[in-house]
Amino acid sequence: MSTVEQQLDDLKAEITSELPNDISVSSVKYEGPELVIYTRDPKEFAQQGDLVRQLASKLRKRITVRPDPSVLSRPDEAREEIMNVIPDDAGVTDLDFHADTGEVVIEAEKPGMVIGRHGSTLRDITKTVGWTPEVVRTPPIESSTVSNVRSFLKQERDDRRDILERVGRQIHREEMSDDEYVRITTLGCCREVGRASFILSTPETRILVDCGDKPGAEGEVPYLHAPEALGAGAQTIDAVVLTHAHLDHSALIPLLFKYGYDGPIYCTEPTRDLMGLLTLDYLDVAAKEGRTPPYDSEMVREAIKHTIPLEYGDVTDIAPDVKLTLHNAGHILGSAVSHFHIGDGLYNVAFSGDIHYDDTRLFNGAVNDFPRVETLVLESTYGGRNDYQTDQEDSERKLVDVINEAYDRDGKVLIPAFAVGRSQEIMLVLEEAMRSGKIPEMPVHLDGMIWEATAIHTTYPEYLRDDLRDRIFHDDENPFLAEQFNHIDGGEEERQDVADGEPSIILSTSGMVTGGPIMSWLSHLGPDPDSSLVFVGYQAQGTLGRRIQNGWDEIPTSEVGAMGNGGGRGTLSLNMNVETVDGFSGHADRAGLENFVKTMNPRPEKVLCVHGDERSTQDLSSALYHDYNMRTFAPKNLETFRFL
Ligand SMILES: [Zn+2]
Repeated sequence: MSTVEQQLDDLKAEITSELPNDISVSSVKYEGPELVIYTRDPKEFAQQGDLVRQLASKLRKRITVRPDPSVLSRPDEAREEIMNVIPDDAGVTDLDFHADTGEVVIEAEKPGMVIGRHGSTLRDITKTVGWTPEVVRTPPIESSTVSNVRSFLKQERDDRRDILERVGRQIHREEMSDDEYVRITTLGCCREVGRASFILSTPETRILVDCGDKPGAEGEVPYLHAPEALGAGAQTIDAVVLTHAHLDHSALIPLLFKYGYDGPIYCTEPTRDLMGLLTLDYLDVAAKEGRTPPYDSEMVREAIKHTIPLEYGDVTDIAPDVKLTLHNAGHILGSAVSHFHIGDGLYNVAFSGDIHYDDTRLFNGAVNDFPRVETLVLESTYGGRNDYQTDQEDSERKLVDVINEAYDRDGKVLIPAFAVGRSQEIMLVLEEAMRSGKIPEMPVHLDGMIWEATAIHTTYPEYLRDDLRDRIFHDDENPFLAEQFNHIDGGEEERQDVADGEPSIILSTSGMVTGGPIMSWLSHLGPDPDSSLVFVGYQAQGTLGRRIQNGWDEIPTSEVGAMGNGGGRGTLSLNMNVETVDGFSGHADRAGLENFVKTMNPRPEKVLCVHGDERSTQDLSSALYHDYNMRTFAPKNLETFRFL
């Protein structure tokens, strides 16, 4: 008998002895990091409100209870009874019964009312019908991504359960080695921004953290073939952890499946959906620009199928010797500081991913409170000694001025923005500025994936800043539903109409002017001296955005590319006013990065400064060393650090 079988038998015996006599255990299984208990007495289980929690803390495992399929009531009967238990105001839009696992997925406009105080309504459902309820939110703005991901996962349910069982056995396998060490190998994003990727390794386990591309440098991918990485085969990686969905962290995750990786991806639920959206778009953009993408959309689906979503704060076993906890990073929807607890109290590493230290309109500031942490891997995008951003209020005032000036000239305001994060932040600023009369009411056109990304934000309000979350819970106060927001879905004709029309504001991807509809907007509005082009986000070295920011005003039409009207030879004269309003960045500035470390509890012994150009990483590294007397490094790519 394999050791995992033995372990499950022992667990079944232990659980049976812990439970009251009237509750039977028919089987126990691992599904990914969770221990699933099947029982013929689900109603009795639910009666004892605290039982699951007690078992979870006794066994130190995440526990799910499901009814043995033999005792399930018929879905048509259960449906009626469930609807009687749930308050009408919850706005249930769908019930989906899965007899193989005894689960019923309830989609509702107000999931909180289906859950009830401390889960009381959920327990009432099980007490009444025996089925195990699971709740998801009906998106307040229809999102094709969310509905595609949900229906895809439903269709792949059997496959997914096989994956979860296999991963569960991997996680709970016996430890093989008596050695103790913790190492980090840098595969990208060191002394550069882009292609974030790391290997965290112990004698038992190898974990890949992020796997992104480099904006403006197609083809520069992380050093995945290094012997410490996939050199020994993609199957030797135990788990992938994705800090957030931006392409410089996620673009090449699907490629891993093409290389034969077949294990789990851990990230938050919104990160999973946004990764799907952004990587599919990445393939789309590559095709439009005539490049051969490194993988096809089938690999994106594989990635989604292998994702095990975690909530902030859930301590989760992801290997025999590694526990992972994700915490809010304040950067984009679902972004996470990823904390790894290695061995039983042996060592702790936190990867910041991209962070924003202070609260923004969209998010609470990054979490920097941990039970323990010895080494921090810290982003340094704005780590340079002069990288201080204007504070948000000043930035908002400046944006308001720029908009009013363009309006007075009868011009348009064109804002290149990342679909995910800054666009929604700017939308909130504009909505409030119009509501309070700081700028005139005018249409705000959203082009590229911004509308869809916004819909995903409203699907996961619990990941947003507290007061924004509360506003979204009440439809009439949901700022993203304001009527001035217009989704550009009519293509080139609609863009031409907007360009010829009244003053308006256009938010368009891509954020660094490296492709997408912004190219088309540039060809429409570029020659217009009354309009303004406003940069609100970081422009990486080598991108067209950076060159325009540096004063380039004759753009070869080949750069504007297939999306624009140009395409041929010649140049496009850029006569627009070019403005930069910083302070809306999703990244902490130099002060924010220092504050993140300074107030970190506990303070780490070592810091690796990564994800910034050479100067930024070295500046930040030496400042942290001098100010806080910690060991700091500004590693290059392909370095390995041993911490223990
Ligand atoms: Zn990012």
